[in-house]
Amino acid sequence: MNHKMIEVEDTGLSFETDLDLEQLGDLAREMIAAIGEDVAREGLVKTPRRVAEAWAFLTRGYRQTLEQIVNGAIFEAEGSEMVLVSGTEFYSVCEHHLLPFFGKVHIGYIPDRNILGLSKFARITDMFARRLQVQERLATQIAEAVVEVLHPQGVGVVIEGLHLCMMMRGVEKQHSKATTSAMRGIFKKDARTREEFLRLIHTQE
Ligand SMILES: [Zn+2]
Repeated sequence: MNHKMIEVEDTGLSFETDLDLEQLGDLAREMIAAIGEDVAREGLVKTPRRVAEAWAFLTRGYRQTLEQIVNGAIFEAEGSEMVLVSGTEFYSVCEHHLLPFFGKVHIGYIPDRNILGLSKFARITDMFARRLQVQERLATQIAEAVVEVLHPQGVGVVIEGLHLCMMMRGVEKQHSKATTSAMRGIFKKDARTREEFLRLIHTQE
């Protein structure tokens, strides 16, 4: 597969992709036609290409690995206090409707031997969020990645997400905000550790 650099419109950002943008664009054009729109209408002419590039971006997490992201940013721990990285924004796509869900991720862990550079938690979150997801799995994958990289005493992940598939389709509006969590190690076994983590998240808000 050949890699192409894609400029994200109006942002000055760019990213690399090896996806077949022609094929994705053709599918977008077919979908536009299938919903009864005129694909030749001026406002829609460039839409298939934009959709292809947008989806390449929204799913770029499939083409990243944990090793690439961590990239050696593991340091020796100086203590065994809880580390909290809370309120990290995420944007993902629900695998049931291909509509966005987004919100905040809170990660806490108690190191054993190692700690990870703080910025890496947002990158790990992004790698899993930029795939087709369900919010429960997103929490589990982040927690398991932290375990894999750091072998900490424990880790907790709480995600608060708003689901456009619920909000825009007008169903069960009261459940459009979902909270999911994944606990590993001491966060799972010890209620006091878990409570401290949950209390810390709420004092940050
Ligand atoms: Zn959905």
